[in-house]
Amino acid sequence: MPVAAVLIYLLINQRRSGRVEKKIVKAKETGSHEPFSVHPYIDPAKCIGSGACVKACPEKDILGLSGGKGRLINASQCIGHGACAAACPVGAITLVFGTETRGVDIPFLTPEFETNVKGVFIVGELGGMGLIKNAITQGVEAVEYIAERIKEGRRDRQAYDVVIAGAGPAGLGASLAAIEHGLNFLTIEQNDIGGTVLQYPRRKIVMTSPVDIPMYGKVKLKETSKEALLDLWMDIVKKTDLKIRTGEKLTGISQADGALSVTTSAGQYMSRCVVLAVGRRGTPRKLGVPGEDLPKVAYRLLDPDQHSNEHILVVGGGDSAVEAAIALSGNGNRVTLSYRGEAFARIKPANRARLDGAVANGSVKVIYNSNVTEILDKKVRLAAPQGAVDLDNDFVYIFAGGELPNEFLKSIGIRIERKYGKA
Ligand SMILES: Cc1cc2nc3c(=O)[nH]c(=O)nc-3n(C[C@H](O)[C@H](O)[C@H](O)COP(=O)(O)OP(=O)(O)OC[C@H]3O[C@@H](n4cnc5c(N)ncnc54)[C@H](O)[C@@H]3O)c2cc1C
Repeated sequence: MPVAAVLIYLLINQRRSGRVEKKIVKAKETGSHEPFSVHPYIDPAKCIGSGACVKACPEKDILGLSGGKGRLINASQCIGHGACAAACPVGAITLVFGTETRGVDIPFLTPEFETNVKGVFIVGELGGMGLIKNAITQGVEAVEYIAERIKEGRRDRQAYDVVIAGAGPAGLGASLAAIEHGLNFLTIEQNDIGGTVLQYPRRKIVMTSPVDIPMYGKVKLKETSKEALLDLWMDIVKKTDLKIRTGEKLTGISQADGALSVTTSAGQYMSRCVVLAVGRRGTPRKLGVPGEDLPKVAYRLLDPDQHSNEHILVVGGGDSAVEAAIALSGNGNRVTLSYRGEAFARIKPANRARLDGAVANGSVKVIYNSNVTEILDKKVRLAAPQGAVDLDNDFVYIFAGGELPNEFLKSIGIRIERKYGKA
């Protein structure tokens, strides 16, 4: 009997390992195996294969067990909860930035979140530390430090005390702390209030820890939904009368007369300090066509499984567009990939092979030399070589490149450090 039990155990393990290895192969093909930023490093010499990390991770398919060891599957989806490291009974997991071969750029910051450019602070995910609670807390701490510095110095009525860029968790935390400390501040946001949370898939479960919100009090959420979290933020904004200029983008910062000159898409301001709470996702390039502001238009694909039996247009000619089109095919979806060029010249060979397969089996249709001209509620209009083409449409995903925040940081002289698998 014990022998039979051992055999069954081995068989179950072997099957589980097989499933995990298949997921790793798929993640490598789609590019989601390579971590972008923070992720767990599992020391194989220490790992005893308890599986505690896999159970503890609140996200899906980032870790798995194979061959009696913890393995990374979709490392790029890691958002740094750190629950895996805390759960590991033998301390085999460390959270690291980047890998030995793929560096991750993190701005140099003092413990008070100030960059090497005096008066310019970075909080939240842009500084390398993800998660909602961390972002809020860093925003609050940076502004508390700024308030202390301003108290000590001479107050300039011609300039803001602080301009805060970004209204995600970090920018909201910073702005509320600015109200609490009576600062003369301005908050701008290029899109809408909420930050990356706005981009989560519908009804996504959000894990967060209790956090103290200035002017509002302790919020004891542990597990909530995207929608409930956004409702809570709107309630906070309303009750604290926080004013945020949405649709205004920060475009430059320079030194001027002992203060900072801040340029945005709407004007120019003088400020003693600037808090950059702009996240790491950058500014996606828009097509600039009518209807692009409809809620069915997105610039990232977070959860392909939320789509079934839908008409979806993917726009772009790089790996991201091709990977999204492939990930969306199946599930009864009708996927069209629109590209303005005449061939996919820049994509990885594996993506090319998979796209060819998807086109051959009819699960993705490609329209080359085409441009979107209008997005309507239930349709999308393309200009194609054969003339105007109207397609039935429920969702549009646009992958037309964009600006990364690190390029902006470098342009204003902020020092960036490249981390290769550093804790
Ligand atoms: C799919 C997914 C699921 C996640 N789930 C969780 C979870 O369950 N729990 C958790 O704690 N964390 C989760 N996270 C991580 C969490 O969302 C981020 O760590 C957090 O949003 C970071 O906050 P932030 O304020 O630093 O940046 P962001 O939330 O990215 O906000 C940055 C804001 O700055 C704006 N901005 C950018 N550039 C400019 C500019 N030039 N001018 C003006 N505004 C600008 C952006 O439009 C954006 O609104 C998840 C992340 C993802 C992608």
